[in-house]
Amino acid sequence: MIQLYQPLNFMGMVYREIKQAITDIEAMFAILGRPPEIVDRPAAPDLKVAGGTIRFEDVAFAYDPARPILKGVSFEVPAGKTVAIVGPSGAGKSTISRLLFRFYDVGGGRITIDGQDIREVSQASVRRAIGMVPQDTVLFNDTIRYNIRYGRWDASDAEVEEAARLAQIHDFILRNPQGYETEVGERGLKLSGGEKQRVAIARAMLKSPPILVLDEATSALDSHTEREIQEALDRISRDRTAIVIAHRLSTIVDADEIIVLDDGRVAERGTHGELLAKGGLYAGLWNRQREAAEAEEKIAGLERGV
Ligand code: ATP
Repeated sequence: MIQLYQPLNFMGMVYREIKQAITDIEAMFAILGRPPEIVDRPAAPDLKVAGGTIRFEDVAFAYDPARPILKGVSFEVPAGKTVAIVGPSGAGKSTISRLLFRFYDVGGGRITIDGQDIREVSQASVRRAIGMVPQDTVLFNDTIRYNIRYGRWDASDAEVEEAARLAQIHDFILRNPQGYETEVGERGLKLSGGEKQRVAIARAMLKSPPILVLDEATSALDSHTEREIQEALDRISRDRTAIVIAHRLSTIVDADEIIVLDDGRVAERGTHGELLAKGGLYAGLWNRQREAAEAEEKIAGLERGV
């Protein structure tokens, strides 16, 4: 029995590793549209995390040399704090998260985590330290339990369920007759954008990394779902270093600092209150979003016959 069990166990391990590699590659393709090209320095040591302070120092970057995207961006995320990055579409917000995850190397300046240049340490150790909640989460054709456990393979069933509870997706899972054994994907349960993002949050909770990068979904979510996701995100980013790439400004009013990116430069920075008082780019974005939200509410009210 043991003789038979061991090879099966080994095959299971290999299967899981292959599956994880495929998903990582898929995620990478989804994010970049092409395969990675960054290679570790020979004998690069692992990143040593002590709190997880992130610094961007005069960072310049271009996907295509003829078109600079970041033109000298500097900011710091002190250990345990939350910094939000906002700005018009195409300003370079998601590029910042790709550079931190080291999908690309900077063209100028440097990025450090706890004082270590991320080009000097192994990519694997940088990625282990960062939990990503991407805009678009890749799901497997497997059970919902498996999809959450992807955050940490050795998590127990109880830990998977606790993460789902914290990510506000536990009740949704239990509404399916097969609960955590419900199959997800092509022939199974199809999850909405908000539900997928909560699976990503649950995975990140299981991984429990010192640094979190939350790339908010661009697609509109109804206000109830948005509130649920917001609560889950607030919970997970408490006591961690977090960068939130935000599209809806209502979600980041409590951030310790807000960086307003425009055309690859930091145009403004400050707290929500400070930036509103300034009456600049952020205040303009805020007023536009508020007017749009009010108009939507009015239309919804008319549809309900209020
Ligand atoms: P959004 O709010 O629309 O998500 P963003 O501020 O996050 O925008 P980025 O995704 O960082 O913007 O993109 C910044 C610029 O870089 C855009 O003009 C985009 O077209 C360009 N860009 C992004 N990815 C690539 C790529 N892989 N190759 C070439 N150009 C790219």
